[in-house]
Amino acid sequence: MSQFFVSDIRTVLVLLFWANLTVLCLLVSYVFHLKDERNRKVLRQFTLARIAQTVAWCLFIVISPKPGMKAMLLGLAALFGGLYIETRTLFFLSVTPRRFVRRFVDSLAAAGVLGLLFSYVFLAKNDGRILLIGLLAFLVILLPGPISLLRVRLSPLQTAIGLGYGVLILVMIMGAAQLVFPGLPRFISPWLLSDLVKILFVEVTMIGGMGILLLTKQDADRRIVELAFRDPLTGLHNRRYFMEEARNTFRDALREKREMGMVFLDIDHFKEINDTFGHHFGDTVLRDFASVLRLNLRPLDRSCRYGGEEFLLLLPGAGREASAATVGRILELVRQSRFSAHPTFSYTVSAGIHVGVPGRDSVDELLRVIDCADTALYTAKGAGRDRFIFFENANAP
Ligand code: GH3
Ligand code: MG
Ligand code: MG
Repeated sequence: MSQFFVSDIRTVLVLLFWANLTVLCLLVSYVFHLKDERNRKVLRQFTLARIAQTVAWCLFIVISPKPGMKAMLLGLAALFGGLYIETRTLFFLSVTPRRFVRRFVDSLAAAGVLGLLFSYVFLAKNDGRILLIGLLAFLVILLPGPISLLRVRLSPLQTAIGLGYGVLILVMIMGAAQLVFPGLPRFISPWLLSDLVKILFVEVTMIGGMGILLLTKQDADRRIVELAFRDPLTGLHNRRYFMEEARNTFRDALREKREMGMVFLDIDHFKEINDTFGHHFGDTVLRDFASVLRLNLRPLDRSCRYGGEEFLLLLPGAGREASAATVGRILELVRQSRFSAHPTFSYTVSAGIHVGVPGRDSVDELLRVIDCADTALYTAKGAGRDRFIFFENANAP
């Protein structure tokens, strides 16, 4: 069975050239308007890789009626150099290897491309076997990129891209190995392999080009969502996110008739801290408090910086005892916090707690519960600060 999928090599080359050129245009027009520097850098590298490959396919089309060894070498250097930059770019989107590893792999790839160019100048006779061994080694260098994308924790998009490249490179390795070591057992006929390589090249052209655009977009979206929902100073969620999450927690608590604790926390005399030690130190205190919260809440508890030096906690399933234990522990840890910039300084926090089963599923009910916690906080402040008070007791003397 010969030429199972593709009959005319020139058609395939034109297709590959055209697909690369199309993706290249798409990349260039996207990079042009991109504001985000990190993704711009990634896409610039990818564009460079595609320019090299587009040039390579163009060269292959030109020489296809009468392929000479030297022109082939030039084309292969451009093609594999481009493919290396491309897989390397994808690789660094998913892992950050040590610098020396990066340098080592880069040097190997550069040596591979230089080897191809060197052969171009000095190759006296067409020694295809040496060339194939070089290519085989080079293909192995290409593998870590796609493989790094196959890890389970990454997004399905990354896995799909990794698979696309990985299969192409493996099939090319099989093809090259069959030519270098003709004695090896053959699982697939050489013709089928060669057709598979062509088809997979077309597929990688598309999946890589579209994939890198989607990946950088996904990364930008993720960071925008982070910006929209997190407080940049403390890294805690902000009020907007908290309100959305709290609505869900409310709904669950209402359905299951479960109690939950809403806690309003406020750092004591924070203005004085700012006035005495400066705003920068004030920020350090805010970050310290946020890390106390982060380290002492259960995964299902919700917290946010409500504004200024005020924080909210939502403790699903927590009644009076559990809420008191959590808040008491937080207040105690805050008392023990020390700072290297001012070793004798310490600070305190006051809290108001509302515990109950929500009455209704509505924003008004959520705001009412927050108000109750706030009222209790006000009482805690009046009672001398550095303590927590339950809303039920809020009006007690
Ligand atoms: P109380 O014990 O009654 O809560 O008094 P307080 O001084 O903590 O409360 P007040 O509301 O008078 O002061 C809050 C201060 O928090 C005023 C504001 O300048 C400061 N603040 C708000 N946001 C930030 C911030 O992001 N960084 C710093 N350093 N200070 C902030
Ligand atoms: Mg305060
Ligand atoms: Mg305040």
